[in-house]
Amino acid sequence: MMITRPPLAPPISILMYHQVGRFNNPRKHRAVYCDVGRFERQMAWLHWRGYNVISLAQAYAGLYEGQPIPEKAVVLTFDDGCDNFREYAWPILKKYQYPVTMFLVAGMLGGTTQWMDDVPEEASLMDIATIRELRKEGVSFGAHSVNHVRLSECPPQVAREEIFGSKAKLEDVLGEAVPDFCYPYGYYNQQVADMVEEAGYKTGLTCLRAAANYARSPFELPRKAISYGDTLPGYLWKIHMKNVPKKSLSKGPKG
Ligand SMILES: [Zn+2]
Repeated sequence: MMITRPPLAPPISILMYHQVGRFNNPRKHRAVYCDVGRFERQMAWLHWRGYNVISLAQAYAGLYEGQPIPEKAVVLTFDDGCDNFREYAWPILKKYQYPVTMFLVAGMLGGTTQWMDDVPEEASLMDIATIRELRKEGVSFGAHSVNHVRLSECPPQVAREEIFGSKAKLEDVLGEAVPDFCYPYGYYNQQVADMVEEAGYKTGLTCLRAAANYARSPFELPRKAISYGDTLPGYLWKIHMKNVPKKSLSKGPKG
């Protein structure tokens, strides 16, 4: 078991976004949406106040390979691979040259967020051409299973196919290694985390809310969800105050 850099090192906040765009005050799934105006202000604040937005790979190197971790370190992650990323979030991220990792549902490229129930409209998901284009422009991609399933509730053979299969599919699409995995809904258990390791990923990202430094292993990296209702003070509170996990990270599933 690899040991995470002790919490005394500067904390790294891995932020979790899903969709950035214009939404009509959604009543359900609010953690999935972020208004583009708010997103713009969040990124401007990080820039203005001198936060160090680092890539997931840099965070990994800091936590597990002895590389220095900068002060005020933030990692930006996006789940699901929604098409609206290119229109709304990406131009802002490019403006600040912020690295980002996007997690794709490998079996639904070019499809829709059909796993989301009770929404007015499913969002469309990036197709292969868009993914390749964004990769050229600097977006990093990770795997988010094949079918967006709750892995800890699947029979082990199914979970295995979701974890190994999404890696193989995305490596085929991208023509390079895909080192990062993200658990749909944050559902995982020890057996699932072990499969992620066995598949050859370097990380597994959860929905456990804490600084990444408190991870039990690279396959249980905590993240902080940014929600539709987060004002700028709420955003900063999540970055600076929600570092120490509330309970043992060994528990799952959650989210
Ligand atoms: Zn997801």
